[in-house]
Amino acid sequence: CGVFGIYGRSDAASFTTLGLHALQHRGQEAAGIVTYDNGQFHIERHVGLIGDTFTKPSVIERLPGDRSIGHTRYATTGGSSLRNIQPLFAELDGGGLTVAHNGNITNALTVQRELQRKGAIFSSTSDTETILHLVAMSEKKDILSKFQEAIVQLEGAFSLVALTAKKLIGCRDPLGIRPLVLGDLDGSWILASETCALDIMGARFVRDIKPGELVCITDKGIDSYFPFKAQEEQKSRFCIFEYVYFARPDSNIEGRNVYDVRKQIGVELANEEPCNADIVVPVPDSGVPAAIGFAQGANIPFELGIIRNHYVGRTFIQPTDAIRHMGVKLKHNANPFVLEGKSVVLVDDSIVRGTTSKKIVQMVREAGAREVHMRIASPPTMSPCFYGVDTPEKSKLLASRMTVEEMAEFIRVDSLSFLSIDGLYRAVGEVNRNADVPQFCDACFTNQYPTRLLDQDGPDNVR
Ligand code: 5GP
Ligand code: SF4
Ligand code: MG
Repeated sequence: CGVFGIYGRSDAASFTTLGLHALQHRGQEAAGIVTYDNGQFHIERHVGLIGDTFTKPSVIERLPGDRSIGHTRYATTGGSSLRNIQPLFAELDGGGLTVAHNGNITNALTVQRELQRKGAIFSSTSDTETILHLVAMSEKKDILSKFQEAIVQLEGAFSLVALTAKKLIGCRDPLGIRPLVLGDLDGSWILASETCALDIMGARFVRDIKPGELVCITDKGIDSYFPFKAQEEQKSRFCIFEYVYFARPDSNIEGRNVYDVRKQIGVELANEEPCNADIVVPVPDSGVPAAIGFAQGANIPFELGIIRNHYVGRTFIQPTDAIRHMGVKLKHNANPFVLEGKSVVLVDDSIVRGTTSKKIVQMVREAGAREVHMRIASPPTMSPCFYGVDTPEKSKLLASRMTVEEMAEFIRVDSLSFLSIDGLYRAVGEVNRNADVPQFCDACFTNQYPTRLLDQDGPDNVR
């Protein structure tokens, strides 16, 4: 998901609309914006793309105010019904609170059950609602203390933006698994998932919010807190897959430019798994930067042999299998002019279910390619993500069922190789991966989860 917040700027909803538009790649299913003005919260939540739903003047007119938060939704937990669209809002003792969440809380259902036993009534199946309940149950006096008491009970990944009548709050989980940055638009503070949401409105990047940090923005300025005392010793475990795929290439995250990392991934891949082909062809768009790096590293011409139709969203975000299969056909077309008679090395960022790769390879062969090799810009995706990226359950991950040789046979390529986990760490600028406490979360590649997974493994197993 993508989150955005702005404080102290008239017409806040318009800026939030712009910010969410830049964050659309983080979730395309639905979006919501909440503003506060003159004693009242205003809420608009719609299914669909920002450009289709929030650009109507009537919608923006219903969102007055100089402070606002917004969310683009990518359903991971909670299903795709309207009641799960964020930001969520609650009227609490002490005033209204609205929250937008990127990530996935790994003990949400366990906490939810405890609260339900005490009589709490949940109105959605979203893990984010758990946060509102924890804030509501807190006996602390002010909303900021209540909020802090709530978040220290959470586990997993959460980059949050929250709005009360007088405060814009932002925080990251103690491992900083998902991104969140602070920006400044001519003196108004902004919180956003990625820097591309600052660029779109000419805002200045100030800094990344730190893992475990909570910032509170009011008329008086910005204050920073570190409420997660027990986890103080833990190091950052930012999601390495944000660099591989999820974030936008023009964003900078924790000092690294995402495009630059992806290109470097391609260079590493060319070094580790060379391929004597005539041309390098990316699977657009996600494979493009790595393919550029691969072509440069291997000194093989780069060609756009597959064209992507931009009016179809990322196929995997569509909820059903049937649509996903259709989506792939709608999305890509191979160009025989480029491919005919050629030995081709295809570069893509990852293989998840394998359905995309299989169709792409078939398409490239039908367009006349003589040989089709495939190079993947990440290690095999072996394990599901419980932190907000929607990888399917383990049994549906191709790499969890097959060896690399079997996968090559399944997708019908002449050769298939993946980047090594160490190569991936080199590409992000690390000398090597610290095996005991890795510098990043890389659990989908290594099965080494940086937190316990209470909802999955705990006594209250809710699977
Ligand atoms: P698949 O192998 O499932 O057919 O799809 C792989 C493609 O989906 C890759 O090209 C990649 O761009 C995209 N993708 C990347 N990340 C994810 C993810 O977390 N989940 C899913 N389902 N697809 C992803
Ligand atoms: Fe990122 Fe993979 Fe970790 Fe999920 S499991 S947070 S996708 S690295
Ligand atoms: Mg792709």
